[in-house]
Amino acid sequence: MGSKGDNVAVCNMKLERLLSMKGGKGQDSYANNSQAQAMHSRSMLHLLEETLENVHINSSASPPPFTAVDLGCSSGANTVHIIDFIVKHISKRFESAGIDPPEFTAFFSDLPSNDFNTLFQLLPPLVSNSCMEECLAADGNRSYFVAGVPGSFYRRLFPARTIDFFHSAFSLHWLSQVPESVTERRSAAYNRGRVFIHGAGEKTATAYKRQFQADLAEFLRARAAEVKRGGAMFLVCLGRTSVDPTDQGGAGLLFGTHFQDAWDDLVREGLVAAEKRDGFNIPVYAPSLQDFKEVVEANGSFAIEKLVVYKGGSPLVVSEPDDASEVGRAFASSCRSVAGVLVEAHIGEELSNELFTRVERRATSHAKDVLVNLQFFHIVASLSFT
Ligand code: SAH
Repeated sequence: MGSKGDNVAVCNMKLERLLSMKGGKGQDSYANNSQAQAMHSRSMLHLLEETLENVHINSSASPPPFTAVDLGCSSGANTVHIIDFIVKHISKRFESAGIDPPEFTAFFSDLPSNDFNTLFQLLPPLVSNSCMEECLAADGNRSYFVAGVPGSFYRRLFPARTIDFFHSAFSLHWLSQVPESVTERRSAAYNRGRVFIHGAGEKTATAYKRQFQADLAEFLRARAAEVKRGGAMFLVCLGRTSVDPTDQGGAGLLFGTHFQDAWDDLVREGLVAAEKRDGFNIPVYAPSLQDFKEVVEANGSFAIEKLVVYKGGSPLVVSEPDDASEVGRAFASSCRSVAGVLVEAHIGEELSNELFTRVERRATSHAKDVLVNLQFFHIVASLSFT
Protein backbone atom coordinates (compact mmCIF):
# COMPACT_ATOMS: atom_id res chain seq x y z
CA MET A 1 0.00 0.00 0.00
CA GLY A 2 1.56 3.28 -1.07
CA SER A 3 1.43 6.03 1.47
CA LYS A 4 2.36 9.62 0.90
CA GLY A 5 3.34 9.69 4.57
CA ASP A 6 6.48 7.66 3.76
CA ASN A 7 8.08 10.79 2.43
CA VAL A 8 6.89 13.08 5.13
CA ALA A 9 9.36 13.28 7.94
CA VAL A 10 7.58 14.88 10.85
CA CYS A 11 10.60 16.50 12.34
CA ASN A 12 10.21 18.44 15.51
CA MET A 13 10.70 21.79 13.82
CA LYS A 14 7.53 21.15 11.90
CA LEU A 15 5.23 20.30 14.76
CA GLU A 16 3.94 23.79 15.32
CA ARG A 17 3.28 24.26 11.62
CA LEU A 18 1.50 20.94 11.41
CA LEU A 19 -0.40 20.40 14.62
CA SER A 20 -4.07 21.10 14.66
CA MET A 21 -7.21 19.42 15.77
CA LYS A 22 -9.24 18.05 12.87
CA GLY A 23 -10.94 21.01 11.18
CA GLY A 24 -14.34 21.32 9.53
CA LYS A 25 -17.58 19.93 10.90
CA GLY A 26 -17.35 16.24 9.87
CA GLN A 27 -17.67 13.12 12.06
CA ASP A 28 -14.03 13.17 13.21
CA SER A 29 -13.69 16.97 13.42
CA TYR A 30 -12.80 18.63 16.70
CA ALA A 31 -15.91 20.82 16.38
CA ASN A 32 -17.93 17.60 16.44
CA ASN A 33 -15.91 15.83 19.13
CA SER A 34 -15.55 18.44 21.83
CA GLN A 35 -18.85 18.18 23.68
CA ALA A 36 -17.04 16.50 26.55
CA GLN A 37 -14.54 19.37 26.78
CA ALA A 38 -17.58 21.69 26.80
CA MET A 39 -19.05 19.75 29.71
CA HIS A 40 -15.77 19.73 31.61
CA SER A 41 -15.43 23.46 31.01
CA ARG A 42 -18.94 24.09 32.30
CA SER A 43 -18.19 22.15 35.48
CA MET A 44 -15.29 24.54 36.13
CA LEU A 45 -17.09 27.82 35.45
CA HIS A 46 -17.22 28.66 39.15
CA LEU A 47 -13.40 28.49 39.22
CA LEU A 48 -13.17 30.69 36.13
CA GLU A 49 -15.55 33.11 37.82
CA GLU A 50 -13.32 33.29 40.91
CA THR A 51 -10.37 34.19 38.68
CA LEU A 52 -12.40 36.85 36.86
CA GLU A 53 -13.17 38.38 40.24
CA ASN A 54 -9.41 38.87 40.71
CA VAL A 55 -8.90 40.86 37.52
CA HIS A 56 -8.34 44.55 38.10
CA ILE A 57 -10.97 46.69 36.42
CA ASN A 58 -10.10 50.16 35.29
CA SER A 59 -12.50 52.62 36.87
CA SER A 60 -11.33 55.72 35.02
CA ALA A 61 -13.95 57.82 33.21
CA SER A 62 -13.24 56.34 29.77
CA PRO A 63 -11.48 53.02 30.35
CA PRO A 64 -9.51 51.43 27.49
CA PRO A 65 -10.98 48.29 25.87
CA PHE A 66 -10.90 45.20 28.06
CA THR A 67 -8.84 42.59 26.25
CA ALA A 68 -9.34 38.85 26.68
CA VAL A 69 -7.48 36.03 24.93
CA ASP A 70 -8.26 32.35 24.47
CA LEU A 71 -5.03 30.45 23.84
CA GLY A 72 -5.39 27.12 22.03
CA CYS A 73 -8.92 28.06 20.97
CA SER A 74 -9.19 25.34 18.27
CA SER A 75 -12.20 25.39 15.96
CA GLY A 76 -15.54 24.77 17.58
CA ALA A 77 -18.14 26.42 19.75
CA ASN A 78 -16.33 25.99 23.09
CA THR A 79 -14.06 28.98 22.73
CA VAL A 80 -16.96 31.22 21.69
CA HIS A 81 -18.94 30.27 24.79
CA ILE A 82 -15.97 30.92 27.04
CA ILE A 83 -15.25 34.36 25.58
CA ASP A 84 -18.94 35.19 25.87
CA PHE A 85 -18.89 34.16 29.52
CA ILE A 86 -15.80 36.25 30.26
CA VAL A 87 -17.21 39.36 28.57
CA LYS A 88 -20.55 39.04 30.35
CA HIS A 89 -18.93 38.52 33.74
CA ILE A 90 -16.55 41.45 33.43
CA SER A 91 -19.37 43.69 32.16
CA LYS A 92 -21.40 42.82 35.22
CA ARG A 93 -18.50 43.72 37.45
CA PHE A 94 -18.29 47.16 35.84
CA GLU A 95 -22.02 47.62 36.18
CA SER A 96 -22.11 46.65 39.82
CA ALA A 97 -19.31 49.14 40.45
CA GLY A 98 -21.54 51.79 38.85
CA ILE A 99 -19.26 52.23 35.82
CA ASP A 100 -20.25 51.88 32.15
CA PRO A 101 -18.52 48.78 30.76
CA PRO A 102 -15.72 49.48 28.28
CA GLU A 103 -15.55 47.99 24.81
CA PHE A 104 -14.20 44.46 24.60
CA THR A 105 -11.66 42.84 22.32
CA ALA A 106 -11.31 39.08 22.15
CA PHE A 107 -8.36 37.34 20.53
CA PHE A 108 -8.77 33.74 19.41
CA SER A 109 -5.31 32.24 19.22
CA ASP A 110 -4.04 28.88 18.01
CA LEU A 111 -1.37 27.40 15.76
CA PRO A 112 -1.46 28.51 12.10
CA SER A 113 -2.98 25.23 10.82
CA ASN A 114 -6.02 25.67 13.03
CA ASP A 115 -9.28 25.88 11.12
CA PHE A 116 -9.97 29.55 11.91
CA ASN A 117 -12.52 29.72 9.07
CA THR A 118 -14.84 27.23 10.76
CA LEU A 119 -14.39 29.10 14.03
CA PHE A 120 -15.13 32.52 12.53
CA GLN A 121 -18.31 31.16 10.94
CA LEU A 122 -19.53 30.14 14.39
CA LEU A 123 -19.25 33.65 15.79
CA PRO A 124 -22.55 35.35 16.48
CA PRO A 125 -23.10 38.59 14.56
CA LEU A 126 -21.65 41.77 15.98
CA VAL A 127 -24.41 44.27 16.38
CA SER A 128 -23.01 47.66 15.64
CA ASN A 129 -24.73 51.00 16.20
CA SER A 130 -26.36 49.70 19.32
CA CYS A 131 -25.11 50.27 22.79
CA MET A 132 -23.15 47.69 24.71
CA GLU A 133 -25.96 47.09 27.16
CA GLU A 134 -28.37 46.14 24.36
CA CYS A 135 -25.81 43.77 22.91
CA LEU A 136 -25.27 42.10 26.22
CA ALA A 137 -28.97 41.78 26.82
CA ALA A 138 -29.72 40.30 23.41
CA ASP A 139 -28.86 36.61 23.29
CA GLY A 140 -27.26 35.51 20.06
CA ASN A 141 -25.48 38.80 19.55
CA ARG A 142 -21.83 39.49 19.99
CA SER A 143 -20.73 42.34 22.18
CA TYR A 144 -17.02 42.25 21.48
CA PHE A 145 -14.59 42.79 18.62
CA VAL A 146 -12.55 39.77 17.54
CA ALA A 147 -9.34 38.82 15.80
CA GLY A 148 -7.61 35.52 15.16
CA VAL A 149 -3.98 35.29 16.23
CA PRO A 150 -1.93 32.48 14.64
CA GLY A 151 1.20 31.35 16.49
CA SER A 152 2.60 29.18 19.24
CA PHE A 153 1.72 30.17 22.79
CA TYR A 154 5.24 29.12 23.73
CA ARG A 155 6.38 32.43 22.22
CA ARG A 156 5.29 36.07 22.36
CA LEU A 157 1.97 36.72 20.61
CA PHE A 158 0.98 40.21 21.83
CA PRO A 159 2.60 43.58 22.55
CA ALA A 160 3.81 44.15 26.09
CA ARG A 161 1.20 45.01 28.77
CA THR A 162 -1.83 44.90 26.50
CA ILE A 163 -3.85 41.92 27.78
CA ASP A 164 -6.22 41.92 30.77
CA PHE A 165 -7.11 38.25 30.82
CA PHE A 166 -5.72 35.01 29.41
CA HIS A 167 -7.78 31.85 29.21
CA SER A 168 -6.47 28.51 27.99
CA ALA A 169 -8.30 25.19 28.19
CA PHE A 170 -7.14 21.67 27.29
CA SER A 171 -4.11 22.92 25.35
CA LEU A 172 -1.03 23.25 27.56
CA HIS A 173 -0.49 19.50 27.71
CA TRP A 174 0.56 19.73 24.03
CA LEU A 175 4.34 19.94 23.97
CA SER A 176 6.15 22.25 21.56
CA GLN A 177 7.94 19.15 20.23
CA VAL A 178 8.61 15.50 20.91
CA PRO A 179 11.88 15.62 22.89
CA GLU A 180 14.71 14.84 20.47
CA SER A 181 16.23 12.08 22.61
CA VAL A 182 12.94 10.17 22.46
CA THR A 183 13.27 9.65 18.70
CA GLU A 184 17.05 9.10 18.60
CA ARG A 185 17.69 5.40 18.22
CA ARG A 186 20.92 5.41 20.17
CA SER A 187 19.55 7.44 23.05
CA ALA A 188 18.65 5.81 26.37
CA ALA A 189 15.38 7.76 26.16
CA TYR A 190 14.44 6.19 22.77
CA ASN A 191 10.81 5.17 23.02
CA ARG A 192 11.19 1.76 21.40
CA GLY A 193 7.95 -0.03 20.65
CA ARG A 194 5.74 2.74 21.97
CA VAL A 195 3.89 5.77 20.59
CA PHE A 196 3.31 7.54 23.91
CA ILE A 197 5.01 7.69 27.31
CA HIS A 198 2.29 5.79 29.11
CA GLY A 199 4.05 2.60 30.23
CA ALA A 200 7.36 3.77 28.71
CA GLY A 201 10.81 3.67 30.30
CA GLU A 202 11.88 6.08 33.01
CA LYS A 203 14.37 7.95 30.79
CA THR A 204 11.72 8.54 28.13
CA ALA A 205 9.37 9.87 30.78
CA THR A 206 12.04 12.16 32.20
CA ALA A 207 12.68 13.60 28.73
CA TYR A 208 8.96 14.33 28.34
CA LYS A 209 8.73 15.90 31.78
CA ARG A 210 11.72 18.16 31.06
CA GLN A 211 10.16 19.20 27.75
CA PHE A 212 6.86 20.02 29.46
CA GLN A 213 8.53 22.10 32.14
CA ALA A 214 10.76 23.95 29.65
CA ASP A 215 7.69 24.70 27.48
CA LEU A 216 5.57 25.90 30.40
CA ALA A 217 8.45 28.15 31.50
CA GLU A 218 8.50 29.76 28.03
CA PHE A 219 4.73 30.13 28.12
CA LEU A 220 4.83 31.94 31.46
CA ARG A 221 7.72 34.15 30.39
CA ALA A 222 5.80 35.29 27.30
CA ARG A 223 2.54 35.90 29.19
CA ALA A 224 4.30 37.80 31.98
CA ALA A 225 5.45 40.31 29.35
CA GLU A 226 2.03 40.61 27.71
CA VAL A 227 -0.36 40.79 30.65
CA LYS A 228 -1.31 44.14 32.17
CA ARG A 229 -0.63 44.78 35.84
CA GLY A 230 -3.67 43.52 37.72
CA GLY A 231 -4.42 41.02 34.96
CA ALA A 232 -4.99 37.30 35.45
CA MET A 233 -4.85 33.90 33.79
CA PHE A 234 -7.06 30.84 34.00
CA LEU A 235 -5.29 27.74 32.73
CA VAL A 236 -6.65 24.21 32.41
CA CYS A 237 -4.73 21.29 30.98
CA LEU A 238 -4.77 17.53 31.23
CA GLY A 239 -3.19 16.40 34.45
CA ARG A 240 -2.56 13.20 36.34
CA THR A 241 -2.99 12.12 39.93
CA SER A 242 -0.07 9.70 39.97
CA VAL A 243 3.43 10.90 40.85
CA ASP A 244 4.80 8.51 38.21
CA PRO A 245 4.87 10.21 34.76
CA THR A 246 4.66 6.85 32.98
CA ASP A 247 1.15 6.58 34.38
CA GLN A 248 -0.55 9.25 32.27
CA GLY A 249 -4.05 8.56 33.58
CA GLY A 250 -6.85 9.28 31.06
CA ALA A 251 -4.39 10.43 28.40
CA GLY A 252 -2.59 7.12 28.97
CA LEU A 253 -5.75 5.19 28.24
CA LEU A 254 -6.53 7.26 25.15
CA PHE A 255 -3.07 6.99 23.55
CA GLY A 256 -1.39 4.13 25.40
CA THR A 257 -3.80 1.19 25.07
CA HIS A 258 -6.03 0.60 22.02
CA PHE A 259 -4.26 3.28 19.98
CA GLN A 260 -0.91 1.68 20.87
CA ASP A 261 -2.21 -1.83 20.13
CA ALA A 262 -3.56 -0.70 16.76
CA TRP A 263 -0.06 0.55 15.80
CA ASP A 264 1.30 -2.84 16.87
CA ASP A 265 -1.35 -4.52 14.65
CA LEU A 266 -0.09 -2.55 11.65
CA VAL A 267 3.48 -3.59 12.42
CA ARG A 268 2.52 -7.26 12.86
CA GLU A 269 0.54 -7.22 9.64
CA GLY A 270 3.54 -5.79 7.81
CA LEU A 271 1.77 -2.54 6.88
CA VAL A 272 4.12 -0.33 8.89
CA ALA A 273 7.79 -0.99 9.77
CA ALA A 274 8.54 -1.22 13.49
CA GLU A 275 10.95 1.69 13.20
CA LYS A 276 8.33 3.82 11.51
CA ARG A 277 6.02 3.20 14.46
CA ASP A 278 8.81 3.97 16.91
CA GLY A 279 9.38 7.28 15.13
CA PHE A 280 5.85 8.34 16.00
CA ASN A 281 5.23 9.83 19.44
CA ILE A 282 2.24 11.73 20.74
CA PRO A 283 3.58 15.12 21.92
CA VAL A 284 1.36 15.25 24.99
CA TYR A 285 2.31 15.27 28.66
CA ALA A 286 -0.23 15.21 31.47
CA PRO A 287 1.64 16.83 34.39
CA SER A 288 1.19 16.24 38.09
CA LEU A 289 0.33 19.21 40.29
CA GLN A 290 3.94 19.23 41.46
CA ASP A 291 5.35 19.26 37.89
CA PHE A 292 3.19 22.33 37.18
CA LYS A 293 3.77 24.14 40.45
CA GLU A 294 7.56 23.95 40.24
CA VAL A 295 7.53 25.90 36.99
CA VAL A 296 5.13 28.62 38.15
CA GLU A 297 7.19 29.12 41.31
CA ALA A 298 10.50 29.19 39.44
CA ASN A 299 9.07 31.78 37.02
CA GLY A 300 8.00 33.94 39.97
CA SER A 301 5.96 36.50 37.98
CA PHE A 302 2.54 35.20 38.93
CA ALA A 303 0.82 34.72 42.28
CA ILE A 304 -0.90 31.35 42.58
CA GLU A 305 -4.52 32.06 43.56
CA LYS A 306 -5.54 28.46 43.05
CA LEU A 307 -3.80 25.34 41.78
CA VAL A 308 -5.77 22.11 41.94
CA VAL A 309 -6.33 18.78 40.23
CA TYR A 310 -9.93 18.63 39.13
CA LYS A 311 -11.82 15.56 37.98
CA GLY A 312 -13.13 16.16 34.47
CA GLY A 313 -14.74 12.84 33.62
CA SER A 314 -14.94 10.86 30.42
CA PRO A 315 -14.06 12.47 27.06
CA LEU A 316 -16.65 10.25 25.37
CA VAL A 317 -20.19 11.35 24.71
CA VAL A 318 -22.38 8.34 23.91
CA SER A 319 -26.15 8.13 23.76
CA GLU A 320 -26.34 4.33 24.27
CA PRO A 321 -23.69 3.28 26.80
CA ASP A 322 -24.67 -0.39 26.32
CA ASP A 323 -24.01 -0.23 22.60
CA ALA A 324 -20.40 -1.43 22.37
CA SER A 325 -20.01 -0.34 18.77
CA GLU A 326 -21.11 3.21 19.59
CA VAL A 327 -18.57 3.34 22.42
CA GLY A 328 -15.84 1.99 20.09
CA ARG A 329 -16.73 4.56 17.43
CA ALA A 330 -16.73 7.41 19.97
CA PHE A 331 -13.32 6.32 21.27
CA ALA A 332 -11.81 6.17 17.77
CA SER A 333 -13.36 9.53 16.75
CA SER A 334 -12.17 11.17 19.92
CA CYS A 335 -8.65 9.86 19.36
CA ARG A 336 -8.70 10.81 15.68
CA SER A 337 -10.04 14.32 16.23
CA VAL A 338 -6.97 15.19 18.32
CA ALA A 339 -4.21 12.94 16.91
CA GLY A 340 -5.43 12.22 13.36
CA VAL A 341 -3.58 15.10 11.71
CA LEU A 342 -0.26 13.94 13.19
CA VAL A 343 -0.88 10.30 12.29
CA GLU A 344 -1.70 11.21 8.68
CA ALA A 345 1.45 13.27 8.36
CA HIS A 346 3.47 10.27 9.57
CA ILE A 347 1.94 7.37 7.65
CA GLY A 348 -0.47 8.94 5.15
CA GLU A 349 -4.23 8.90 4.92
CA GLU A 350 -4.77 5.28 3.83
CA LEU A 351 -2.73 3.77 6.64
CA SER A 352 -4.29 6.22 9.03
CA ASN A 353 -7.71 4.85 8.03
CA GLU A 354 -6.38 1.33 8.67
CA LEU A 355 -5.06 2.39 12.06
CA PHE A 356 -8.25 4.02 13.30
CA THR A 357 -10.36 1.11 12.02
CA ARG A 358 -8.30 -1.10 14.35
CA VAL A 359 -8.56 1.42 17.18
CA GLU A 360 -12.33 1.31 16.82
CA ARG A 361 -12.44 -2.50 16.67
CA ARG A 362 -10.29 -2.85 19.76
CA ALA A 363 -12.17 -0.20 21.74
CA THR A 364 -15.47 -1.85 20.76
CA SER A 365 -14.36 -5.15 22.22
CA HIS A 366 -13.34 -3.37 25.46
CA ALA A 367 -16.33 -1.01 25.53
CA LYS A 368 -17.22 -1.49 29.21
CA ASP A 369 -13.67 -0.90 30.36
CA VAL A 370 -13.34 2.15 28.10
CA LEU A 371 -16.52 3.71 29.47
CA VAL A 372 -15.63 3.17 33.10
CA ASN A 373 -11.90 3.80 33.10
CA LEU A 374 -11.36 6.52 30.52
CA GLN A 375 -11.51 9.46 32.93
CA PHE A 376 -9.67 12.74 32.58
CA PHE A 377 -8.21 14.81 35.37
CA HIS A 378 -7.24 18.41 34.81
CA ILE A 379 -4.78 20.79 36.37
CA VAL A 380 -6.59 24.06 37.01
CA ALA A 381 -4.46 27.13 37.67
CA SER A 382 -5.70 30.56 38.59
CA LEU A 383 -2.81 33.01 38.45
CA SER A 384 -2.66 36.75 38.94
CA PHE A 385 -0.10 39.31 37.88
CA THR A 386 0.59 42.21 40.18
N1 SAH B 1 -9.68 25.27 24.09
C1 SAH B 1 -10.45 24.46 23.18
C2 SAH B 1 -9.61 23.52 22.34
C3 SAH B 1 -8.64 22.59 22.99
S1 SAH B 1 -7.85 21.54 21.79
C4 SAH B 1 -11.57 23.79 23.92
O1 SAH B 1 -11.73 24.05 25.10
O2 SAH B 1 -12.33 23.01 23.36
C5 SAH B 1 -6.16 22.01 22.00
C6 SAH B 1 -5.72 23.14 21.10
O3 SAH B 1 -4.43 23.56 21.51
C7 SAH B 1 -5.61 22.73 19.65
O4 SAH B 1 -6.41 23.52 18.83
C8 SAH B 1 -4.12 22.90 19.33
O5 SAH B 1 -3.86 23.32 18.02
C9 SAH B 1 -3.72 23.96 20.34
N2 SAH B 1 -2.28 24.03 20.59
C10 SAH B 1 -1.44 23.00 20.86
N3 SAH B 1 -0.18 23.45 20.98
C11 SAH B 1 -0.23 24.79 20.79
C12 SAH B 1 0.76 25.82 20.79
N4 SAH B 1 2.06 25.56 21.01
N5 SAH B 1 0.35 27.10 20.58
C13 SAH B 1 -0.96 27.38 20.36
N6 SAH B 1 -1.94 26.44 20.34
C14 SAH B 1 -1.58 25.16 20.56
